[in-house]
Amino acid sequence: MTKKLYLFDIEGTTTDIDFVHKVLFPYAQTNLSSFVLKNQTNPSVIKIIEDTKVIVHTEEAFTPSIDQCIEKLLFWIKTDRKIGPLKELQGLIWDVGYKNGDFKGHLYSDVKPFFDRIKEAGNEIGIYSSGSVHAQKLIFGYSVNGDLTPMISYYFDTKIGGKREAQSYKNIIEATKYKAEDIIFFSDIYEENLASSQAGMKTYQLLRYPQEKREFEMIGDFEGL
Ligand SMILES: [Mg+2]
Repeated sequence: MTKKLYLFDIEGTTTDIDFVHKVLFPYAQTNLSSFVLKNQTNPSVIKIIEDTKVIVHTEEAFTPSIDQCIEKLLFWIKTDRKIGPLKELQGLIWDVGYKNGDFKGHLYSDVKPFFDRIKEAGNEIGIYSSGSVHAQKLIFGYSVNGDLTPMISYYFDTKIGGKREAQSYKNIIEATKYKAEDIIFFSDIYEENLASSQAGMKTYQLLRYPQEKREFEMIGDFEGL
C-alpha cells in the first residue's frame, strides 16, 4: 500500500481550544513583562524587541522604549493579533512553563491511539497549525501523553501560507513530496477542509464543538489507514 501522510491541525482538532486560550495565552500574558526584563541580553529577546520597535515605528511613527514594547506586546495578546515577534516571545515563555511542569500540552483522548495506528500501519504524521513550529513541538513534546515528537515527521506553520488558502496545501504537497491524494488533512474549520480539498488532499472535519457547516466527512466516518 502507498505510504500516506496524516496531517493535523492542532486547535480544535488534536487539542482543546481552551488549552490555548485559558492556559497558554494567560500564562504568557502573566509572565511576559518579567520574562522580557529578566532576559534583556538574550539574543532572541533582543531580536523580538527590535522587531516590535520596527512594527510600532511603521504603524505609529515613534520608536517605543522597552516598557512601551512590553505594553504593546500585551495589547497584541489582548487583541489576539497573530504577529511574528509576539509569537516568538510566547514560544520562549511557554518553553519555560512546559519545562517547569507548570502545564502539559492538552491532547484529546483519541489522538494518541490514532497516532499509534498511523505509525503501526507504516504511515507518517504531520502538523499544520497557525501556532509557530516551536510552539507545536512544545505541545507534542510535553503532552499529557508524554513526548510524541518522535512520531511526527513534519511541522508547518503559517510561514508556508495561510490555513484557508489552497496554495498553502499545495506548498505542503511540494515540501513533503507526497501526492496530494496520499495526504489526509484533519481540521475543525470548514474553510481549511475546503482549501485542502481544493489542493487535492483528502480531508476530514472534526466536530469537537457545534459547527455551522458540516459539509465534509467527519472523523467518525474515517475508515482504515
Ligand atoms: Mg483548528
